[in-house]
Amino acid sequence: MSSAIAQNLARLHQTVPPSVRLIAVSKTFPPAAIREAYATGIRDFGESRIQEAIPKQEALQDLTDIQWHFIGHLQTNKARKALQHFHWIHTCDSLKLAQRLNQIAPELPQSPQILLQVKIRPDPDKYGWTPAQLQTDLEALDHLNALKIQGLMTILPLGLTEAETLKAFEDLQDLRENIGQQTWVNLKMEELSMGMSGDYPLAIQGGATMIRLGRIIFGTREASQTENRLSSTH
Ligand SMILES: *Cc1c(COP(=O)(O)O)cnc(C)c1O
Repeated sequence: MSSAIAQNLARLHQTVPPSVRLIAVSKTFPPAAIREAYATGIRDFGESRIQEAIPKQEALQDLTDIQWHFIGHLQTNKARKALQHFHWIHTCDSLKLAQRLNQIAPELPQSPQILLQVKIRPDPDKYGWTPAQLQTDLEALDHLNALKIQGLMTILPLGLTEAETLKAFEDLQDLRENIGQQTWVNLKMEELSMGMSGDYPLAIQGGATMIRLGRIIFGTREASQTENRLSSTH
């Protein structure tokens, strides 16, 4: 008999095209849950707190082909740890953070892929560039030649209708294309990380290359764990 996690993933594999990278967001879930998802073929896992991720990564050291994705807010003073422990950082949200990552990256054996977090809709609760701010900073970002910037990421504000959600995802895709058509030395615009458990079909429709799914794979995160997570990041 297969586990609930395996059943959830089997269902997802019927709706997520193979060209879209499915990132299993394992925050608040133990290494055993990650092993279950791994056993079904998942290799990409997302974590939003470095201090939670490191012991889990240590417990899973035998699974050498996991790609770890950092999806939480990254404070500048944790930049080195993020570079050391993740293959992807989805949440580079300011020029200052990008410059810090660029400064440290050459000191480390490998440098992760970076996505730029965009507030495609105004949202006082979220970090990231507005499209206009990003356009202003692109020139400077392009010169950070130790960074492998690969595309854009967004987290939508709560409470949008389906139509508004799809339009927001399409706007991020348009922004990616628009930036991708400009001439850059280092910057690449191949990837679009958008869509969570509640809206991933719309994200795929809007052009996502990566979707970040937690609850729909692992089940609801317990209130107490969520509170811990919130109180330690704010
Ligand atoms: C927690 C989280 C997810 C996953 O959310 P679910 O609703 O559990 O699918 C995706 N992206 C980010 C940035 C998150 O913090």
